[in-house]
Amino acid sequence: MELVSRLAQLIPSIGHNTKSISLEVGIGDDAAVLRLSPGSEWVTSCDFSLEGTHFRPEYPPESIGYKALARATSDLVAMGAKPRYFLLALALPAGKTGKWLRRFASGMSRAAREFDMPLIGGDTSRSDTVTICVTVLGQIPSGLSVLRSGASPGDHIYVTGTLGVAQLGLEIARRGLSRQRSLARYLHAHLYPQIPVSLGQALAGHHIPSAMMDISDGLSTDLARLCTASHIGAQIYAGQLPAPKIPSTLLSRGIDPLALALHGGEDYGLLFTVPPHAVPRLSRIARHTKITRIGEITRHRDIILIHPDGRSSPLPAKGWNPFS
Ligand SMILES: [Mg+2]
Repeated sequence: MELVSRLAQLIPSIGHNTKSISLEVGIGDDAAVLRLSPGSEWVTSCDFSLEGTHFRPEYPPESIGYKALARATSDLVAMGAKPRYFLLALALPAGKTGKWLRRFASGMSRAAREFDMPLIGGDTSRSDTVTICVTVLGQIPSGLSVLRSGASPGDHIYVTGTLGVAQLGLEIARRGLSRQRSLARYLHAHLYPQIPVSLGQALAGHHIPSAMMDISDGLSTDLARLCTASHIGAQIYAGQLPAPKIPSTLLSRGIDPLALALHGGEDYGLLFTVPPHAVPRLSRIARHTKITRIGEITRHRDIILIHPDGRSSPLPAKGWNPFS
């Protein structure tokens, strides 16, 4: 059987004979056909997941599949959109088209079910290393998308979840400690990032954030992007950052929780700004999610870190950079 047809059997998908609310033609024809619905907008993005760059070849294939879809979908969540469909372009070595592919597809299926997001098309090819490109499509009521560019001086800055846990998991994998059971939950955060799908939609739906993005490359790098897009600066309180608690077995290994929280990538939580008048509404909407206020937007363009002793220093962007 052709690889695309096998993927369509292994991953929740919509075939070309099945119609859904906004899909005229699904996987199996030359292209998918989407129906435009009045009053709503499509939001779309694509993301690479490359062996050696984004994951190590020895990682569980389930994690590679899960994370490839989670990473891409995180960008829809960051706009406030509801995930709807995805397309998968996958190139593999011939030796990975059997068991490896089934395990990869089972991880990707888990993410597709969690995000309620069927596969509607894609392409497969042969390559010496695993090369994945996921294209995601989301929907949002017209005009509700939350951009990076809307923050104003005086807005409060929030993040979801704990910052730097996924990076801590990566450090654990790098140090060859993956088999230690007490460290499993950190490794899990690196392999299977949990993205706040419904919170993104709820925030946008209630017009709460003035600007929003996902934290993919680390707070320091992503906050700088938001500040550049909004033409403003920020001050961040080091003592308020939701940093991970470093397990005692790692304390002697030079892992700094503040550095993890500031620069650690791949948590895929949300970074968003809220005007003071919308803060009471935020507390009602985000009751069931961990959110933390970490600072304020400022008029001058620098990004400043305020230490617990009152000292302040510029915060350089030292998150993940694929070219460094
Ligand atoms: Mg993003």
